[in-house]
Amino acid sequence: MHQRTADVIIVGGGVHGCAGAYELAKAGVKVALFEANYLSSGGSGRSAAGIRQHFGTEVNCRLAQYNVQCFTHLEEELGAELPLDYAQWGYMWVAYTDSCLDQLKKNVDLQNSLGTPSVIMTPGEVKAKWPYLRLDGIIGAAFCHQDGHINPQTMTIAYGRQAERLGATVKTHSPVERLLASGDKITGVVVNGEEWHADKVVLTAGPWSTPLAATVGVELPVSPERHNLLVTEQVEPFQCPMVLCLDDGAYFKQCPNGSFFLGRDDAGEPKTTESGNSWKFLEGVTKSVLSRIPVLSGVRVVRQWSGPYDNTPDHQAIIDWAPVEGLLINCGWSGHGLQFGPSGGRLIREMVTGQPTFVDIRRFRLARFAENDLFFEPAYI
Ligand SMILES: Cc1cc2nc3c(=O)[nH]c(=O)nc-3n(C[C@H](O)[C@H](O)[C@H](O)COP(=O)(O)OP(=O)(O)OC[C@H]3O[C@@H](n4cnc5c(N)ncnc54)[C@H](O)[C@@H]3O)c2cc1C
Repeated sequence: MHQRTADVIIVGGGVHGCAGAYELAKAGVKVALFEANYLSSGGSGRSAAGIRQHFGTEVNCRLAQYNVQCFTHLEEELGAELPLDYAQWGYMWVAYTDSCLDQLKKNVDLQNSLGTPSVIMTPGEVKAKWPYLRLDGIIGAAFCHQDGHINPQTMTIAYGRQAERLGATVKTHSPVERLLASGDKITGVVVNGEEWHADKVVLTAGPWSTPLAATVGVELPVSPERHNLLVTEQVEPFQCPMVLCLDDGAYFKQCPNGSFFLGRDDAGEPKTTESGNSWKFLEGVTKSVLSRIPVLSGVRVVRQWSGPYDNTPDHQAIIDWAPVEGLLINCGWSGHGLQFGPSGGRLIREMVTGQPTFVDIRRFRLARFAENDLFFEPAYI
């Protein structure tokens, strides 16, 4: 008879849930992961998947260094059936105002002090290195040649498949209806009308974590915000770095197959997990990006989509045990969580198995909100 038990249940098959399942299965832990839809169907598969070490808080800089170390051999490690399209073509933040450039310099100083080889570039240096970029009006930029981007869907799915090969149970199209607790202790979840039992539950459901945590009385200050992207037809790959413009939040990357991803932040987007498309985004992003990279004029748009950020008040993640014993929270990654899959998965394993974490993550504790001890990430988009 099928035993509906596991040592650990993971709720949510985004990059953090799948990486956590992989790390735990590798460590011999009996893990079951439930995903409401298909693996990567949340923020993970909808992300631009930029990978950067450009952060302004020490914990994020240290975790980002680890992520980059992992990405260089991840495809092989996960036995990925489809290419992860990891492109280490660099990532550049461009500043248009003194205050932005001052912050970039502070971030780069911190990164350098921790061993990350990022640099500040002058407008002339940017123009000389990438003559096809038309970044009129910039006063400087921060660049790291080790950074880049990846395919978020094949990466997330590769984590999930490798977890399965190592013995994890991975169930898609299986929405968890609620968490189960007895007294102050987690006991499992209800999924597809059945109870599954475990002493530990890891909540990696992105913005959907908030209503799920509430089913056992845990309040999470995590809320959704819709963000948009589009992809163009393929053009000749020219190893363009990923570029983020700090005046209007526009960004772009070229995938190894030659297509471009274009994105642009818009504070007016709905605060919802519902996806949808708007002409306003299409028009705004194409005007903004085409003026910066005119060689893309005439290139056709293939499709556009949207997905949710899972924002916290300080744009930092929550990785902590909840007040209900055995419930581990890993969510609230805002707009930068895809690239933290490798470190997020490792932290889940370390915390679940009672090991010390490889980086001090006390700043990610849940209680910081109640204690009014927020710590803002200055390098967030
Ligand atoms: C447009 C856009 C661009 C982005 N760009 C970048 C970027 O360049 N770099 C970067 O690092 N990050 C980026 N992000 C952010 C990144 O996508 C997220 O931070 C990250 O993917 C979060 O991963 P996750 O595993 O925590 O959550 P998610 O990927 O959201 O996964 C949560 C999963 O939980 C599932 N779920 C929900 N409810 C239930 C339930 N009841 N039962 C079971 N499963 C459930 C969902 O279906 C979903 O698959 C971007 C996001 C968007 C939307």
